[in-house]
Amino acid sequence: MKTFPHGIHPKGNKERSANVAVAEFPAPEAVSIPLLQHAGKAAVAKVRKGDYVKAGQKIGEAEGAISAAVFSSVSGEVIAIEKRPTASGHCEHVIIKNDGKYEEEKLAPLKNPAPEQIVRRLADCGIVGMGGAGFPTAVKLAPRDKVDAFIINAAECEPYLTCDYRILKEYPREFLMGAQYMAAALGLETFFVGLEDNKADAAEILDKAASDNNICAKMVLCHTKYPQGAEKQLIYAVTKRKVRVGKLPASAGVIVCNVHTALSAFYAIENGEKCYKRIVTVSGGGVKTPANFWVRTGTPVSAVLDACGGIGDAAVKLLIGGPMMGFAQSNGDIAVTKTTSGILLLTADEASAEESGPCINCASCVKACPMSLMPVYIDACILSGDVGGAEKYGAMNCIECGSCAFVCPARRPLVQSMRLAKKKIREKGGKR
Ligand code: SF4
Ligand code: SF4
Repeated sequence: MKTFPHGIHPKGNKERSANVAVAEFPAPEAVSIPLLQHAGKAAVAKVRKGDYVKAGQKIGEAEGAISAAVFSSVSGEVIAIEKRPTASGHCEHVIIKNDGKYEEEKLAPLKNPAPEQIVRRLADCGIVGMGGAGFPTAVKLAPRDKVDAFIINAAECEPYLTCDYRILKEYPREFLMGAQYMAAALGLETFFVGLEDNKADAAEILDKAASDNNICAKMVLCHTKYPQGAEKQLIYAVTKRKVRVGKLPASAGVIVCNVHTALSAFYAIENGEKCYKRIVTVSGGGVKTPANFWVRTGTPVSAVLDACGGIGDAAVKLLIGGPMMGFAQSNGDIAVTKTTSGILLLTADEASAEESGPCINCASCVKACPMSLMPVYIDACILSGDVGGAEKYGAMNCIECGSCAFVCPARRPLVQSMRLAKKKIREKGGKR
């Protein structure tokens, strides 16, 4: 079975929402749309208080080489532009009062687009990596290196999350065609879809859809293991190529994009639709009615949770994203963005909220790390203020997958240590 070295086997917990069909979540009375929903620089507001906007109208202009445009998700009046919290910080938000008319602004559909037209269209529609990283897709599809392999990351290895799985099952043709356009942008006629072997049923559906629609795609089943969906680990499993430390996948001739990104690329090219809504999984033992919803960006997380039964007494932890790489929140007063793959409410059992203790030198974290790092040493360095030591032990190569923290019997907050180490190394001008 195709896989990568090390890794862990957390309980998948996907059965709660895996068979729940995608439903449309009603638009709220007002949306609060962050101008930073992607990697790189925040978009710059293009509207002012009092302006009337349509759904799909640009409200934030991409700023600089790594950035993405941001669009309104409803029609109505801009009632404020102000800083508000996001899942991982703060940024400017455009608040729009929904007039309930859903007037929409779209681009003309593209017919048989050339590679450069595809890349332009993805930029014009604000498409970013919707698996969580939010890297602008148009930038990714214009690599400096020669690329000869394109992989769609359909591993969805984070426990609980099922939004990609539902796309593969409910929108196989649209997803495959979107991926085909992206491959064409790279000058390729074929592409791989990397899935974990717990999604063999989806692979069968995709095989049939590819054959029915004359799409040259190869489904590759990989071992169900975390973090199978991490870029470098998936590349290794599918192609056996290694991406060198500090290098991008394109340096190994590979580009990897996420399932939802391909679906949004399809709608951008075939329908001229801007990226302002996405499928979000709502799950966890603290959720009464798990769901997979199409949600407009700017919708409050609290509204989505209310529709699933609210935050009950059993819930002890709210997460945006998966339990391994997601961001814990103190409340639901933040907005759904292009990268919100999941909203989870975990119970005490699921959250394993035990106190952390001192390291017992068991080396479990070293055995689990898919990047072959020694988290125990990086943690010790950062605790003692030895930023140089943390850098020497390769903290900058950490992909923040959380495998080390998951296996640590002492419940050391290792991911926080890794994030802190990277921050301190950057501050002192170390390797990026
Ligand atoms: S050190 Fe980083 S890459 Fe390694 S297991 Fe921990 S979080 Fe994952
Ligand atoms: S897994 Fe935890 S206790 Fe074991 S060596 Fe790593 S940090 Fe220490």
